[in-house]
Amino acid sequence: MPKKTTARKKSATAAGSAKQASGPPEALSEYRRKRDFSRTAEPEGGSARASQTLAFVIQKHAASHLHYDLRLELDGVMKSWAVPKGPSLDPAVKRLAMQVEDHPIEYNTFEGTIPKGEYGGGTVMLWDRGTYSYGGTNPDPVEGLRGGLKKGDFKFILNGKRLKGSWALVRMRNESTGKPQWLLIKHKDEHAQPGSDVATEHITSVATGRTMEEIAGGKSRVWHSNRSDRSKGVPSGDEPGPAAKSPVKKSAGSAYERLMAKRSR
Ligand code: MN
Repeated sequence: MPKKTTARKKSATAAGSAKQASGPPEALSEYRRKRDFSRTAEPEGGSARASQTLAFVIQKHAASHLHYDLRLELDGVMKSWAVPKGPSLDPAVKRLAMQVEDHPIEYNTFEGTIPKGEYGGGTVMLWDRGTYSYGGTNPDPVEGLRGGLKKGDFKFILNGKRLKGSWALVRMRNESTGKPQWLLIKHKDEHAQPGSDVATEHITSVATGRTMEEIAGGKSRVWHSNRSDRSKGVPSGDEPGPAAKSPVKKSAGSAYERLMAKRSR
């Protein structure tokens, strides 16, 4: 049998970018150090091409503590924050977001279980995904994103299935020795929904329609009509949600505006 000599072709769906073909491997060193890839199905990373549009994903992660991992692509990696309560569409609500190590872009399709005892052991659900763009005023959007990250005022616009519109991540000043702490805040716009709790409204995977229990149980991508959640027969997990059409109500005030006012004093 002839030896395979040709290099494995990578999928080229995102070819043509001005960026490097793959993310900087050194950016993933902490991610890799924490994981044993002979034991977990999580990707090692480093082979995905940077895309012309920037990817975003939120993974619901039932580890030792339930949280939602918000990941935003920048410079070939997924900048990542663990948000214990998940995102809120209410501009009056601030959600704690602890910045964690950069993840590989390949992580964006990961749904399944991480073995018990391994780093982050537990169930991972693809809760939302899509693209995002810069939400600030810098004429160079990538520079604007890099600057926002450095400054601790990261403005972005999500175009996901469940989350859309303008958001900010604001870094808190009192950084202790641990992970940098940020606040995730929805800006006021037509996608804001005061009083809603989008994180608990959607309990199925945006990719497979599975619940956490179904993912944990290793059930395949089949849709079950006897689910008790509110996805109303939409197999893709793309359920509209009861609050999706509700008009934007006046909120008590924007958490972002109050926070920035406090900052500039
Ligand atoms: Mn996590």
